Amino acid sequence: MGKIISICNQKGGVGKTTTCVNLSAALGVLEKKVLVIDTDPQANASVSFGFGVENFDNPALQFMDFTSVIRNNIITTNSPNVDLFPFYEDLNFFEKASVSSKFKKALNSNKKSYDFILIDCVPFFKAKNLEILAVSDAVIIPVQCDYYALEGLHKFLKTVRFVQKKLNSNLHIEGFLLTMYDKRVNLSNKVADYVRNCFQDLVFSTIIDRNAKITQAPSLGKSVIEYDATCIGSKCYLNLAIEILANNDVIDEEKELRVIEQEQETVFNSKKLGRTPLSGDDSLYERILNNFSCEYEEEQKSFLNNFDDLINLKKSSVEKIMGTSYKELLGSTWIYKVNKEKVFKKKYLYVYFENDAVTHYAMKWFGS
Ligand code: ADP
Ligand code: MG
Repeated sequence: MGKIISICNQKGGVGKTTTCVNLSAALGVLEKKVLVIDTDPQANASVSFGFGVENFDNPALQFMDFTSVIRNNIITTNSPNVDLFPFYEDLNFFEKASVSSKFKKALNSNKKSYDFILIDCVPFFKAKNLEILAVSDAVIIPVQCDYYALEGLHKFLKTVRFVQKKLNSNLHIEGFLLTMYDKRVNLSNKVADYVRNCFQDLVFSTIIDRNAKITQAPSLGKSVIEYDATCIGSKCYLNLAIEILANNDVIDEEKELRVIEQEQETVFNSKKLGRTPLSGDDSLYERILNNFSCEYEEEQKSFLNNFDDLINLKKSSVEKIMGTSYKELLGSTWIYKVNKEKVFKKKYLYVYFENDAVTHYAMKWFGS
């Protein structure tokens, strides 16, 4: 029976689509049957498998039986054992509750044919993502190893909790996945350590390194594994697939253990925090959320006032860490807004370069 895993995070550009495509390819190589469902209007997952939206006729879904629509429009990709249900322009699956329940039924009817169904989600937290979480068994949360990585995550976790309580008590966190990690960059290590500290067992042991082949593969309509099976990006996603398979075997064993050893459950629960559904244990969940928000605010303050790690970095590295806002590519001063929440008093970080390396930085306040 297939497990439905959505790849979700309220932020864009954190590696959701990349993970969906390459994890499914890796699971396929490990002889698991996988269906990828592309729910993003940008259709990046479909394109990454070499299909454009224009390749498909719109099946006028609102008039049709979802179960047969999904079944009849699944296509085989070049990745072994991976099928795709591509994004359709007018596929407003989730606009009406009645439609989402049909979607759930359709997915369930396909569960038997697959070991995993991976759903690529849209970035912003719209009702659509709520519905996707409501039909999922688990969620993978990619976290990019950069400066703003944790922004909004607290709210997202609350939403996961809401879904668990109100819509889908089976939903559990498959894992937080650290993506675009660059061991040469201090900040990458700091973010990775920080996320591990916060979420402990919930973070996959596998980290996805930043790797140029991962970026290049979609333009050829291939997963990174088809593009270059020996590159570091392929190894990372294969390791992730192996870890997920191992964790799921563990979950099965744990379920058995749970039945046999119900009396000893308290010890078991605290030990297996990451790999069991959190729905049964409110206090545990609240503790994670509370610790996370307090610690993160503290940590964020120190990040916000200390950018020493940027000194001597090249422009390309600063761009990777800080993103692209307010910079002039060719200029020697790049400016970033660092406190988003204050409307009237804005704080900016000025980063100064000389010969493509950061010489110093300064914080400036504007507004009343
Ligand atoms: P999302 O789906 O969350 O918006 P994407 O998966 O589209 O994010 O990734 C955003 C960008 O980052 C893409 O250009 C992608 O090629 C690139 N990217 C993602 N993961 C990696 C990685 N591990 N190494 C290098 N580039 C990556
Ligand atoms: Mg995407």
